[in-house]
Amino acid sequence: MEFNTKVIHGGQQHDPSTGAVMPPIYQTSTYAQSSPGVHKGYEYSRTGNPTRTALENALASIENGNFGLAFGSGLAAIDAVIKLLNPGDEVISTNDLYGGTYRLFTSIYENYGIKFHFIGMDNADNIEKFIHKNTKLIWVETPTNPMLNIIDIKAVGKISSKYNLKLVVDNTFATPYLQQPLNLGADIVMHSATKYLGGHSDVVMGALVVKDKTLADRLYFIQNASGAICGPMDSFLVLRGIKTLHLRMQRHCENGKAVACFLKDHPKVENVYWPGFKNHPNHEIAKAQMNDFGGMLSFTIKGNEYNKAIKILENLKVFTLAESLGGVESLSGHPASMTHASIPKEEREKTGVVDSLIRLSVGVESDKDLIADLENALKLI
Ligand SMILES: *Cc1c(COP(=O)(O)O)cnc(C)c1O
Repeated sequence: MEFNTKVIHGGQQHDPSTGAVMPPIYQTSTYAQSSPGVHKGYEYSRTGNPTRTALENALASIENGNFGLAFGSGLAAIDAVIKLLNPGDEVISTNDLYGGTYRLFTSIYENYGIKFHFIGMDNADNIEKFIHKNTKLIWVETPTNPMLNIIDIKAVGKISSKYNLKLVVDNTFATPYLQQPLNLGADIVMHSATKYLGGHSDVVMGALVVKDKTLADRLYFIQNASGAICGPMDSFLVLRGIKTLHLRMQRHCENGKAVACFLKDHPKVENVYWPGFKNHPNHEIAKAQMNDFGGMLSFTIKGNEYNKAIKILENLKVFTLAESLGGVESLSGHPASMTHASIPKEEREKTGVVDSLIRLSVGVESDKDLIADLENALKLI
């Protein structure tokens, strides 16, 4: 099945009791049993719920995996992955990382005796020297947030399989429309479904997709045992979002390109970070592993003045200044004071998150209006 068909039909069946084309929102916590232990596949909604099952099957299908798991948030999904580990285990992670992921790793899991190494992975050869006896996991985010670096998943996958490690890819920014990490050697794909999969800024959710049955069983055990599940209404919303993922992503990519090109030529703009530019340091890898370049980009202002960046953000009207990304509406953000505020200034500046950096999640509005909005805000500084 082609991707554009999978987003609509993958893993789906009409509701067996009524023929309903969309699964009902099974707003129930429990299920009748005819005799102790005799039931129709569902016992209790932490363990399983038919609306969530429909979503989990769709997730598995679009990521080319065999098993999908949905969680109450992206961070709950990440939390479930780290619970595969034991005290003393080590993780190698990209250094240009979503702030909340960094916070979970360093402020929670380091206290439980898990060690994290945050390194640049632009060059995959860099990874091997951080592999020790207790290394269990490699954590990759690509494109990275907010610097839009691209990491070669296939190259990292070769290293992870050589040392028998698990490779996890946070695929939130790219979505399976742009890249399918399980095909490139990843063991686990993770999503903040809050973003592009949901696509409408109306739900918080996380997801994991895997191919391997043993790994899936361990994650299902953690999902049920720790209980960070999502509800049936939210499952329904994300399932509905996925059905237009390909249409939205196509427009996100077109608009992202238009905005990136506009900013690149603007005299007040210093750098534009967008992997579609030929002079982007990882452009060739992006071209090889992604189908297009996405709707996320960042830029800095000449002179790198904090106040100028803030003024631009205050004057944008079509772009809403807000946390999050991946919805139909365009959003702007200031990583240094918003999403990445939990990362020490010294650490964040090492990766390029300077004071004038502005991140855009380019939505699916008219590109003319988006560009006019940016032009106007830039005029005011
Ligand atoms: C938002 C986000 C997360 C966290 O997901 P939540 O749904 O907010 O818990 C993780 N990774 C990336 C890349 C994100 O953008």
